[in-house]
Amino acid sequence: MERSTIVRVHEGLHARPATRFVKLAKGFESDVELVKDGKAVSAKSSVKLMLLAVKENQEVTVRANGADAIEAIEALIGYLENPRAGLDDGNEADEAGPEAAAAVPVQGAAPTDGTPKLQGVAASEGVAIGPAFAHFPPEIAGPGRRLQADEIEGELERFRRAVAAVQARMDRTLAENNLSAGDRGIVAALRDIAADDSLTGEVEKLIKEGDDAVSAVIGAASAIAADFSAVDDHYLNARADDVHAVGRQICLVLLGQDEVSLETIPQGAILIADDIGAWDLARAPLKRIGGVVCGHGGATSHIAIIARSHGIPAVLGLGDKVNELRTAKEVAIDGNAGHVIVDPDEAARADFTRRVEAAAQERAGLKVFKSVTPTRADGTVIEVAANIGSLEEIEAAQEAGAMGVGLFRTELLFMRHMHLPSEDMQAETYSALAKAFAPHPVIVRTLDIGGDKPIAGIEFPDEENPFLGWRGIRMCLDRPDIFKKQLRALLRAAVHGNIKVMLPMVSEIAEVRRTRALVDECAAELKAEGVPHAGFDLGVMIETPAAVLIAPALAKEVAFFSIGTNDLTQYIMAADRLNPTVAKLNDVTNPAVMSAIELTARAGAAAGIMVGMCGEAAGRPDLIPAFINMGLTELSMSPASIQRAKKTIAAMTADR
Ligand code: PEP
Ligand code: MG
Repeated sequence: MERSTIVRVHEGLHARPATRFVKLAKGFESDVELVKDGKAVSAKSSVKLMLLAVKENQEVTVRANGADAIEAIEALIGYLENPRAGLDDGNEADEAGPEAAAAVPVQGAAPTDGTPKLQGVAASEGVAIGPAFAHFPPEIAGPGRRLQADEIEGELERFRRAVAAVQARMDRTLAENNLSAGDRGIVAALRDIAADDSLTGEVEKLIKEGDDAVSAVIGAASAIAADFSAVDDHYLNARADDVHAVGRQICLVLLGQDEVSLETIPQGAILIADDIGAWDLARAPLKRIGGVVCGHGGATSHIAIIARSHGIPAVLGLGDKVNELRTAKEVAIDGNAGHVIVDPDEAARADFTRRVEAAAQERAGLKVFKSVTPTRADGTVIEVAANIGSLEEIEAAQEAGAMGVGLFRTELLFMRHMHLPSEDMQAETYSALAKAFAPHPVIVRTLDIGGDKPIAGIEFPDEENPFLGWRGIRMCLDRPDIFKKQLRALLRAAVHGNIKVMLPMVSEIAEVRRTRALVDECAAELKAEGVPHAGFDLGVMIETPAAVLIAPALAKEVAFFSIGTNDLTQYIMAADRLNPTVAKLNDVTNPAVMSAIELTARAGAAAGIMVGMCGEAAGRPDLIPAFINMGLTELSMSPASIQRAKKTIAAMTADR
């Protein structure tokens, strides 16, 4: 007996919805299969279901055979047709998508004072010094022993007991109840993998063929992980790590070894790891972690976002250099400059201790600036706004006293999901932002992505120079199917607050005009559909030399400019923002870049539009007075820099 339907489950049968589907299927005695594109898998295995990679809006067939087949089909079809299936207790875990390593500009010059320092990506600002806590779980290897026939039954028993022990441990973690919804989801998904027939069945088969239990677990987990890696879907690719994590847990029990756990990290220690996976992250006592150093990762990786939202300094992307820290006793890190000192000498220790204390004192002293509205001597208000990339960062921005959002990077929204975010999902996110900061403006930047940061659902060509390639507004205008969803979502969100929209990587006026035509088209569609929406100010980022040179004409077309100094510096100086060898040239204070900023400010003033800045330079106290004197009236920066910036501006007025 079978029935077909179109899957309406939001984002399809990925981890949690697949788990729920399996639970439902297991409630029936019948054998149940799910069929997609002619391929049938048991509906009672979440691993197999995930590997079927069923997406929203795809056609599938539920096939059942047994006494309660009719009821099973009815219940499972009902589930598949429910868009909210699997999402009713928060969906953060599902958002723990593939880590997208992307670097931020290395701020500050490379260290030159003779103290040996390792340079990585400055992923979360702040300085820290503390005992090193190296987290390099050893590779697990099986004894590679062939079993005698009379040993097989005992080995199967040993394996089953190990699985039960791992499940019990995960159940205890779940029951402890101090996990966030997202962390619970991660642990629950791992527990399901541990219990799944795909893994246990394959291990038992290998043991029956004569493999010892550890070798069998390693073999089976590697094979399933390889299947996840081979699917053409970034989200499912990342599940391979989950399978390895579970396999590892089972092996440790079999070997009678303890996991090197983050639970024992001492207060204020610097966590050093090659990578930190979902399982570790879910259990990490973040309050005790003084800083993070990783071989993997970049500014948008999961650990970077968590570090920033918890105010933990982090240097990521050290590569193999992280191995130099394996035996370190003490580590000092500078999350602003992206460097790490191993076992600092007396002078360096004194320097860092002083800086940590000074930072704590400064933070305490700066608190009074949280609610200050900085003004120029002529009374013009300077908006000091926040750069954020996720709703999780709203609280930090508000705590800092942000006067709105000057740059909402929408890339993360696209990178965290297994496929392109729907219009509804985007509208919800932008509306939440608008409401959180109203009446202050929230400037949302349309998707700024290129071949250096691929995302699920967009095919990027291989390019010699992705930074000079098909990215930002160029890609969006070529893909109106993606761009219009975002514009429609923004028009819908504008009803809820002060939404403004800006375009990245603009280099000619036609790009603005074509966008405006699309915005009008979207507004007309929403009107015809009777969907509430409102207009928004459209602005551009000034981050290409072309945009600076046509700024007077561009200013007549848009409501505001926001100067993106990160890209503007690399393009003006022809010095890659990610290449440490040319870091000296990649300097915003170079007269070439400063005069580009001034030209932009003048063009904006002549046309009477607002000129702001959202590149990293906007938060630099040494440059803020120059920017204000050039006529900039909005500065947007990471929340951690806001109070210092307000103080700097207040001091300018007081000096007069
Ligand atoms: C910039 O280029 O200055 C900017 C703010 O954008 P991003 O760093 O996201 O490229
Ligand atoms: Mg940029």
